[in-house]
Amino acid sequence: MINRREMLKIATAAGASSVLPLPALAAQPMSTQEKSEVECSLKRLMLRHTWTTTMSSSEYRDTVQFQFRRDGIAGFGEGAPIIRYQEYPEQAMKAIDAISSQIASGDPWMYQKFLAQMRRSLGDHQHAAMAAVDIAVFDWIGKKLGLPLYQFLGLDPSAAPITDFSIGIDTPEITRQKTREAADFPVLKVKVGLQTDEATIEAVRSVTNKPIRVDANEGWTDKEEAIRKINWLETQGIEYVEQPMPAHMIEETKYVRGKVHLPIFADEACTDVTMIPRLTEAYDGINVKLDKSGGILEALRWIEVARAVNLKVMLGCMVSSSCTVTAAAHLSPLVDYADLDGNLLVANDPWRGVRVEKGRLLLPTGPGLGLTAQHS
Ligand code: MG
Repeated sequence: MINRREMLKIATAAGASSVLPLPALAAQPMSTQEKSEVECSLKRLMLRHTWTTTMSSSEYRDTVQFQFRRDGIAGFGEGAPIIRYQEYPEQAMKAIDAISSQIASGDPWMYQKFLAQMRRSLGDHQHAAMAAVDIAVFDWIGKKLGLPLYQFLGLDPSAAPITDFSIGIDTPEITRQKTREAADFPVLKVKVGLQTDEATIEAVRSVTNKPIRVDANEGWTDKEEAIRKINWLETQGIEYVEQPMPAHMIEETKYVRGKVHLPIFADEACTDVTMIPRLTEAYDGINVKLDKSGGILEALRWIEVARAVNLKVMLGCMVSSSCTVTAAAHLSPLVDYADLDGNLLVANDPWRGVRVEKGRLLLPTGPGLGLTAQHS
């Protein structure tokens, strides 16, 4: 396709006295359909290993799957509500169903206004539901334009960072086995936050010397204990520590940060864009997740705000299928660290999307999210 400047050259060469009107090039892609069709369902994702953190232990996760159809094109989205944020799969699905006619009558080309309206209509504690709607709309837009999401967002897929692989809390023997299974990943993220932390890290270190990140999931409630653990972790080749203390203990976390060298990242403490500037008091970076921000549009704002206040940014995910993980991976060229392995913990992933090769995220080049169905 020729661009405007080339058209102008052609017009000038042909002796035209003024710039030709270019309605076909200037036109915005239009929908032929007045309303969209939407569909929401629950999907139980079975886990390869029982997944244990300081928060819970589970064999499966229920997620919300959402479809946005218009002009014969279907966009797919997913949300993974978790109890930590008082969000539940059944309620998330009901919340989406309750506004399905609003979603169906919204204009996806005005996605800023449209998604802001849907966010208001869904209300508080429906961030995962919002993520499902937002991701499906962006998948639809990319498919309609024939562009992969990273290209629509103006991002360089070769700048996608390495993702780590997460190891949940387990016995030393199983931790060693999981570490061996993660041999292809150059970086590991290990869940800690219990009395067994030293034994867990020693089990990983008995198998590998590769860099480790740790996530305490708010597990240390005593600031002196947190300092002791973090300073010990520093001797074990740890890169950074995620959410050492409970989210509300910002003063204690600030104290801890003043006594340790390792960078401290906020995950559970970062649930709204307005909190981000204040987090600079106690943290070096934030963990952005689509299920916390409520999708791609808001995650982009989080990243911008974090950058503006000099916070590092990592991109994480809940236990999800390749739908959410791929959506997040399309944003990964914008961040410092990626922890996008939620789909790799799932045994019955309905989608194939982002791939990981020696830890590097390989973004799909198909339009939208670039997903293809699996086990269909
Ligand atoms: Mg975390």
